[in-house]
Amino acid sequence: MDYLAGLNPEQKAAVLQIKGPVMIIAGAGSGKTRVITYRVAHLIRSRVDSFNILVLTFTNKAAREMRERINHICGPEAKNIWMGTFHSVFAKLLRVEADKIGYPSNFTIYDTDDSKSVLRAILKEMNLDDKLYAVNFVLNRISAAKNNLISWQAYQKDEQIQSEDHANRRDLLGKVYETYAQRCYRAGAMDFDDLLFKTNELLRDHPDVTNKYQHKFKYIMVDEYQDTNRSQYMIVKRLAAVNENICVVGDDAQSIYAFRGANIQNILNFEKDYPDLKVFKLEQNYRSTQNIVNVANSIISNNKEQLKKNVFSEKEAGDRIKIMRAFSDNEEGKMVADTIMQDRSTNGMKWHDFAILYRTNAQSRSMEEALRKLNIPYKIYGGLSFYQRKEIKDLIAYFRLTFNPNDEEALKRVINYPKRGIGDTTVDRIIVAADKNNITPFEVVLQPNYYIEKAPASLSAFAAMIQSFQVLAKNQSAYEAALYIAQHSGLLKDLYVDKSIEGVNRYENIQELLNGIKEFSEREDIEEKGLDVFMQDIALLTNDDKDKNKDADTVSLMTIHSSKGLEFPQVFVVGLEENLFPSQMSLNSRSDLEEERRLFYVAVTRAERKLSISYATSRFKFGTLINCEPSRFLDEIDAKYLELDFSAKPQQSSSFFDDERNAWSRKDTNTKTDAYKPKPATTPPPVKTTSILAKAHVVSNDFKISDTSNLQVGMQVEHERFGFGKVINLEGNKPDVKATIFFKEIGQKQLLLKFAKLSII
Ligand code: ATP
Ligand code: MG
Repeated sequence: MDYLAGLNPEQKAAVLQIKGPVMIIAGAGSGKTRVITYRVAHLIRSRVDSFNILVLTFTNKAAREMRERINHICGPEAKNIWMGTFHSVFAKLLRVEADKIGYPSNFTIYDTDDSKSVLRAILKEMNLDDKLYAVNFVLNRISAAKNNLISWQAYQKDEQIQSEDHANRRDLLGKVYETYAQRCYRAGAMDFDDLLFKTNELLRDHPDVTNKYQHKFKYIMVDEYQDTNRSQYMIVKRLAAVNENICVVGDDAQSIYAFRGANIQNILNFEKDYPDLKVFKLEQNYRSTQNIVNVANSIISNNKEQLKKNVFSEKEAGDRIKIMRAFSDNEEGKMVADTIMQDRSTNGMKWHDFAILYRTNAQSRSMEEALRKLNIPYKIYGGLSFYQRKEIKDLIAYFRLTFNPNDEEALKRVINYPKRGIGDTTVDRIIVAADKNNITPFEVVLQPNYYIEKAPASLSAFAAMIQSFQVLAKNQSAYEAALYIAQHSGLLKDLYVDKSIEGVNRYENIQELLNGIKEFSEREDIEEKGLDVFMQDIALLTNDDKDKNKDADTVSLMTIHSSKGLEFPQVFVVGLEENLFPSQMSLNSRSDLEEERRLFYVAVTRAERKLSISYATSRFKFGTLINCEPSRFLDEIDAKYLELDFSAKPQQSSSFFDDERNAWSRKDTNTKTDAYKPKPATTPPPVKTTSILAKAHVVSNDFKISDTSNLQVGMQVEHERFGFGKVINLEGNKPDVKATIFFKEIGQKQLLLKFAKLSII
């Protein structure tokens, strides 16, 4: 069993325990994913048929990497394993079984844009106030219901459901949910949540089908189990019910999708569901240096709700974690880019050794700008997918209509693109006629004069064109069919004549899509190579899956959410500021704040050798410059692992914010001239002090900072918002000492010392 040599005794025990229910809840980097990979390899080596294995991962990328590893150990058998995300695996299963639940096997998968468009139409028809019924809100409610396996019928009936949906809104929401479900059904379409919701219905109502898959999937493994929702939990439970060879791995400290319905109860329930459960503990972190592991532990220890576990590293202590302060978001980008440049040359690293992680997508802009200035190649993960670009969606809408002419969103998208004289009024009439006659819009288009008034002649021509595509797609290869459709729909020409830079770009994107389809047509490892097969999971792909040079040497940029499970030698976590990270929305409840903290834990545990954390003291938000406070999370890190880099010198260009101290003195002398002052932020960013600044080892500190735990009456202090002052009284015991301070500008104030952003001057 040489192939198991790369496992420690606990990991090996978990791999060898192939029978019965197994659970591993362990800290980051302890080899959970590795255990799943080796377990599958071990199953195949033990002559388990690879067709009988089901592995559910969090991203397509994770599945691909796992398959490569298994292939390396076991050879081409790896190809037969059902492995992928919940959505892609069950979309595949539903295509086989769709007729059982009244869907065509070539059902369309509606992406979020499609779903919103359907909802927008419904909300408009029902005349609902778009403030009370914002599309995102409604979609979230429907999504939450589906993820909790609540059908629209149950939603309408149950008084308890969604108690946060205001009572009279609930009635209408129930109606919107019903109409939405019916529209999707009529269009032969499922949204993302349906892929799991309908799988549950299928397994619930069709014992024969359930039985078939229970016997097919004799061995089931689930990675990142802490982020499964109820719908996913039930699928796994049903499929595993006969053999009970189920292994789940996860880390409660990394549960970061509660906002989307992930349920930590799934871990706790697991023990109840399977009394013979074998639990394995993994405690050694193989990913990160001791400093990084210690910092991660100190962060997560602030959460009240967590399963206790030990995590340690036997790697070297490693560098301290660097805290970088910048004066603006642009400068933060520059500091990160400069560090990458420098460390790459001094430590002989590659670009792909670096990752920049942020809380929100919007933060990538300043990072990208800085990287571009230094010609550093980078790639944004999880951003807008290639398949979500307008021109790509347009062509794909033609493909969708070809295979599923009932697909209403596709129809609406291209019925008048390129322009063929079918106006919005006509489209509205088509939809109304379809509703009235209980048929699909395409059926109306097939006989326009029968169903609607003043039908333009081009409607019949459009219908005939789609029908010709249908015939063609049956007989031609994916590439021939795609090219034909691109040409004969008029889309290629429409893009070709647009010679603007964007137009050329769009034309090239279509060419790229066609090239991709050509490659697909020529693949030798698959039998079915029609355009319908190419189309199947396209809505589930992200930009990480459509990457021309997968192995290109680039710096990775991504949100922390999409970094789950990944690792990089050097990681920058940026934007550690109050209201950004933790996000403003999380500040109202402990559980939301704890989820943010878990997110921070996920971020820092991606780093193998070096970790830098940064914040800016001002940042553009919605076009306005705002002052920012360092994140409370910084205070929570044990300062002995930190190193502060306050070396950043303000840049010439950022006039008023040049230098915090100068700014202060200028304020004193220049009180009459407001000319320098930027409009939104009328006071200069004050000196920021947090306890980490006070306690940590400071590399380069322009400011005199001291620990406020030694504060005494009579001392001069500076508060980040109230300015300079003098301590006039201290009362109470540590850690609840209250200080009464007289501030020059605002007068007397009483502050709880542990929260006050104070420094002694
Ligand atoms: P996360 O919680 O972040 O998903 P994980 O628990 O899944 O982490 P893995 O990604 O499986 O951890 O492992 C972390 C790193 O440690 C990987 O690079 C893996 O190859 C390595 N590793 C795990 N176990 C061992 C081992 N026994 N010997 C050497 N390297 C190991
Ligand atoms: Mg993992």
